[in-house]
Amino acid sequence: MRIVLLGAPGSGKGTQAQRLQTKYGVPQVSSGDLLRDAVARQTELGIKAKAAMEAGQLVSDDIVLGLIRERLTRDDAKNGFILDGFPRNSDQAGALAKLLNDIGQPLEAVLLMDVRTKTLIGRLAGRRVCRACGAVHALSQLPSPDAPCTKCGGELYQRSDDKEEVIAKRLDVYQSQTKPLIDHYQKLGMLRVVKGEGTLEQITARMEAALAPAEAAAKPAKSAAVRKQAAKKTSRKATKKKAAKKVVKKAAKKAGKKLVKKAAKKAAKKSAKKVARKSAGKVTKKVAKKSTKKPAKKAGKKSAGKSGKKANKKAKKASKKK
Ligand code: AMP
Repeated sequence: MRIVLLGAPGSGKGTQAQRLQTKYGVPQVSSGDLLRDAVARQTELGIKAKAAMEAGQLVSDDIVLGLIRERLTRDDAKNGFILDGFPRNSDQAGALAKLLNDIGQPLEAVLLMDVRTKTLIGRLAGRRVCRACGAVHALSQLPSPDAPCTKCGGELYQRSDDKEEVIAKRLDVYQSQTKPLIDHYQKLGMLRVVKGEGTLEQITARMEAALAPAEAAAKPAKSAAVRKQAAKKTSRKATKKKAAKKVVKKAAKKAGKKLVKKAAKKAAKKSAKKVARKSAGKVTKKVAKKSTKKPAKKAGKKSAGKSGKKANKKAKKASKKK
């Protein structure tokens, strides 16, 4: 989730960014908070930025850009960020695009918090901030004007640039320098307009709905990467399977050949035996036939001889009688 929250001072960017960071698990990166922190620590940048902030003017681009660059390259912003209050003019938008391109984290969406000027003024003038935990409260929601923070009991104060005379200046700066960014991001097809009035929950729900397409677009991208990896894995598996199949086929062929050879040998032996047996059978039959025929002929010849002799004898006897 890499988004920018765009909107006038008092449009609720900071409050909603805090709620969204919990849901999406990415940090809120607020240029105003980074500057206020630098001012409080009295760093070189902070000292330079202080006067412009108190006057409701924009701090110079190079100071803000340096802080943003350092913040976005920290570890916790690797999975995304919610930019709140940056960019605030077209030069900053150009520098942001370049920076995000350099770190390979392009912007996914820009949410514009749409709030009427009358509501903005009322919110800014009644804003109270906790010195201890930074929670933002609306004066109208506190039990009494000097009540402590309802979250941690810390002391509440009014930001110096939330004083009426500065509020007007800040709204002017928004109109002249920041509002043109609406057109810029609209042309890029990144802008989503969210109605920023109603209860906190209603506004958060609208923002989540506006972010749903960006979230959905990020998910298939993720699963496409996962799908690619899975496809690689299965193709690797398939190659392994193919190779294994080849080995098995080769082994089977070899074994088959052996079996076939064995079977052929066996069959050859069998048929040889059969042939041998058959021919042996034929031979014995022939021999048997022959042997049965011979004695018969012999006997025939013998008996024929005997009866011939007998007849001769009878004939001889008869001629003697005559
Ligand atoms: P904010 O808390 O966002 O309302 O910012 C408070 C003040 O910090 C602004 O009125 C500016 O003076 C300064 N500031 C915050 N963000 C930027 C920025 N992106 N560029 C220049 N000045 C900024």
